[in-house]
Amino acid sequence: MDILKELENAERIGIAGHVRPDGDCVGACLGLWNYLKNACPEKTVCVYLEQPPQTFSFLKGYDQIDSTFQPVDPFDVFIALDSGDSERLGGARDLFFAAKKKLCFDHHLSNTGYADINVIRSDASSTCEVLFELFDRKYVDDAVAEAIYTGIVHDTGVFQYSCMSRDTFGIVGELIGYGFDAAAIISKTFYEKTYVQNQILGRALLESILLMDGKIIASCVDKRMMDFYGVTSEDLDGIVNQLLVTKGCEVAIFLYQTGNLEFKVSMRSKGKVNVSEVATYFGGGGHARAAGCNLTGTYRDVLNNLSGHIEKQLL
Ligand code: AMP
Ligand code: MN
Ligand code: MN
Repeated sequence: MDILKELENAERIGIAGHVRPDGDCVGACLGLWNYLKNACPEKTVCVYLEQPPQTFSFLKGYDQIDSTFQPVDPFDVFIALDSGDSERLGGARDLFFAAKKKLCFDHHLSNTGYADINVIRSDASSTCEVLFELFDRKYVDDAVAEAIYTGIVHDTGVFQYSCMSRDTFGIVGELIGYGFDAAAIISKTFYEKTYVQNQILGRALLESILLMDGKIIASCVDKRMMDFYGVTSEDLDGIVNQLLVTKGCEVAIFLYQTGNLEFKVSMRSKGKVNVSEVATYFGGGGHARAAGCNLTGTYRDVLNNLSGHIEKQLL
């Protein structure tokens, strides 16, 4: 796959990632945007994303992100990044399908192959890794490297998860040779929490429950609690990972309320359970060890549904 060849005849190119963009999504979109700026400065390249967390505002091109998703003339090529299905493109979905040619780069096991050309590598740590392996190093500069590094840091939990391969470490080694503050990216965008983020993390841990003899840990944050602390869903990132470190737990389930009897579900697994299968069954998706979906019902209903499917895999 030669990205630049696929874009040869295009004048206008669109890029988008998934709703509620995470580090990999923002890194991939801005990494590719900066790469194309270097490789083909004569082309118009637009990036569409829901407003990403401010912690990523140091990345070059952050201020160019369009979160309005206004209809425009069809793009010659539209590139979807880090999105396992087209629904996940949110406001950019229509722009994507209106384009003359549609490309997708991703690493989700659950990817449905919704583009004309799909580069899906579920063995890769991140979409940033998938992209970087295809980048011509001639056009990689500090800004590209910084964005790609940020994405890998986030999707690997700082080089920790099993999705880190020898290739990923090789890429990270190459990236830190560029001029950017690699240590600051880890502390500022991954570990640093605001006071209320830590408070609500504490509440979620305190109110967590164990199911299946401690093999499943679950917790839920409802609207009232979010209002009490004055937090948004962005402030809840990382809670599910903290639940999972509990000794003896195989799966962590974290829910937060999105509406009346509506929850966003995040699941994490230590390896025995493929949570992507569970999430896909309920209309979501993800990876074997990290997946999510949206469910309706009471907290108890949702937990019963999910734990039933998890239990089947553990038996
Ligand atoms: P999260 O738990 O939201 O951090 O997501 C974990 C993984 O599952 C990420 O790779 C997401 O892209 C994917 N994911 C989360 N929610 C959904 C959903 N509703 N539909 C499809 N994939 C999802
Ligand atoms: Mn993502
Ligand atoms: Mn990703």
